[in-house]
Amino acid sequence: MVIARCSFCAKPNTEVDTLIGGPGVFICDGCVQLCVSAIEGKPADVPMIAPWEHDLPLEQVLQNLTPVSAASTQVQENLAAWVGKARSLGGTWSQIGEALGMTRQSAWERFA
Ligand SMILES: [Zn+2]
Repeated sequence: MVIARCSFCAKPNTEVDTLIGGPGVFICDGCVQLCVSAIEGKPADVPMIAPWEHDLPLEQVLQNLTPVSAASTQVQENLAAWVGKARSLGGTWSQIGEALGMTRQSAWERFA
């Protein structure tokens, strides 16, 4: 059963050995290994910039929109599931709204 997808490569939990969950995001064992290689091979003086700040052609930028949107959708679905869990445990819309930095009414309208 597909529970979640890696937020980096979009592989579902059924196609990876391990899928580690974070706050609304997931990373698979294969992507962790890629990250370790990138960290180990990174020159010390490379400045950190946002991925969209790199000099990229439009075609590549457009190709990036699909996985970013898919990751965003998964985060929104994950948030809704957590809100549902809070409700099942007796959490009020006021408590949920406060946790999300919104009003009780806004929380109810978004998740009820
Ligand atoms: Zn992955």
